[in-house]
Amino acid sequence: MNKKVIVIGSGFSSLSAACYLAQAGYEVEVFEKNDTVGGRCRQFKKEGFTFDIGPSWYWMPDIFDKFFGDFGKQRADFYELDKLSPAYKIFFADDIITVGDSMDKICVEFERIEKGSSVHLRKFIKKAQENYDIAINKVVLRPGISPFELVTPETALRVDQFFKTISGEVRKKFKNPKLISTLEFPVLFLGAKPNKTPSFYSFMNFADFGLGTWHPKGGMYEIIKAMSTLAIQLGVQVHTDSTVEKIHVEHGKVTGITANSTFINSDIVLSGADYHHSETLLDKKYRQYSESYWEKKTFAPSSLLFYIGFDKKLKNIEHHNLFFDTDFDRHAEEIYDTPKWPTNPLFYANFPSVSDSSMAPDGCETGFFLVPIATDLEDTPQLRDQYFDIILERFEKRTGQSVENNIIFKESFCVNDFVKDYNSYKGNAYGMANTLLQTAFLRPKLKSKKVKNLFFTGQLTVPGPGVPPSLISGKLVSELITKNG
Ligand SMILES: Cc1cc2nc3c(=O)[nH]c(=O)nc-3n(C[C@H](O)[C@H](O)[C@H](O)COP(=O)(O)OP(=O)(O)OC[C@H]3O[C@@H](n4cnc5c(N)ncnc54)[C@H](O)[C@@H]3O)c2cc1C
Repeated sequence: MNKKVIVIGSGFSSLSAACYLAQAGYEVEVFEKNDTVGGRCRQFKKEGFTFDIGPSWYWMPDIFDKFFGDFGKQRADFYELDKLSPAYKIFFADDIITVGDSMDKICVEFERIEKGSSVHLRKFIKKAQENYDIAINKVVLRPGISPFELVTPETALRVDQFFKTISGEVRKKFKNPKLISTLEFPVLFLGAKPNKTPSFYSFMNFADFGLGTWHPKGGMYEIIKAMSTLAIQLGVQVHTDSTVEKIHVEHGKVTGITANSTFINSDIVLSGADYHHSETLLDKKYRQYSESYWEKKTFAPSSLLFYIGFDKKLKNIEHHNLFFDTDFDRHAEEIYDTPKWPTNPLFYANFPSVSDSSMAPDGCETGFFLVPIATDLEDTPQLRDQYFDIILERFEKRTGQSVENNIIFKESFCVNDFVKDYNSYKGNAYGMANTLLQTAFLRPKLKSKKVKNLFFTGQLTVPGPGVPPSLISGKLVSELITKNG
């Protein structure tokens, strides 16, 4: 009889682990509380419009290719991928920076803003590429068990980059605040302020300028569809509408779960739900991390999101648009240092229908707006509306058009929904940040220290937040499980 693994949740990390474990010969069953798979990356369709509920930036295409390659497949067997040109646009108060789809185009744009900056940029990106090769091929593929995992001949030569910050590095060579913000943007995906993120993480800048921004035709949910198709082909059983209420332990060893009030036995349990929530499914004595442990951690922000159907094509926009036309530092302070609703928020607007006509009805635009906010904030319909008015007014002003009367419908998602839909700790949108003290072996562990055959995966453990890291997290935990028998 093959050993049975129950996987809790069906986000990227859970689906990734389920595929690897099924391939290794385990009997795998996935239990997902929501009515569809995908976790943070679900899809919402309305009146001919298609929205990705969560992630929208497809970066690091090599990681997705490697994932499918591990199963003898190609990404192209499942979905079409387009490189976006331009990659994205940033609106500042007095200018717009367009990030092109090649280093040459980006260098021209940097020179326009600051004479001589392209020379520094090429050097910066070359170093970022070296870091990418080390991070992706060596460091990130280790399970975060011991500090020695970080010690490789390559990292030993770069040890200073773990103590300097990305913010400091960027400021050494670039003076123009707009270029500084452009170069600090990629590390926001790691969930912390650039002045708290080690400069080794400049590999995110290589992911951005070197590898480019891509779009799966039909939206990010195509990746989830591909992964769940693969999982089913490999023999994984997927149960949706199945809330796990308890993880059972006997004599220090996992025995199964209760889902929808029914006990289901299992040799191994792997949870890809938010780590904090997963531990609450255990009796207290089996939890590894106390409430005060979680309380002290830096979490990635929550978000206020709007999904909007527009009855016309919009002007002066690209697929991805960042509105950095207010004070970046102040907004960051209001997320991390003195958590409150932002005084003058930065925001992001995504219009996938600009490059993919399948995302909206003819002559219409699919719009997704995101305001990063602190976790655990009060979330009311009034606050959501107030912030919608603020960002819509700014959007109209910066893009030079009126859109308010072209809204067919508007849906929103915020802190309370993150908690309700995903059991997210304090409503975090994308996990626990990757700061110096929350990197690699300093993150919550993949394997329980207290319960035999209990494992964890996802954006609160290693390697960290984001879609590519979640794919890797599933692979790492499946290797640990296989090794443990
Ligand atoms: C708004 C937003 C924008 C983002 N943008 C990007 C981006 O552009 N690019 C990028 O790379 N990343 C982005 N991210 C981050 C990325 O989406 C996440 O890091 C990734 O999806 C996390 O996957 P996961 O498997 O760790 O967790 P999740 O996707 O959260 O999966 C956990 C699953 O567990 C389920 N669950 C919870 N409790 C239970 C229970 N008791 N029983 C059963 N099931 C349970 C949940 O319903 C969920 O399906 C974004 C995230 C958000 C929210």
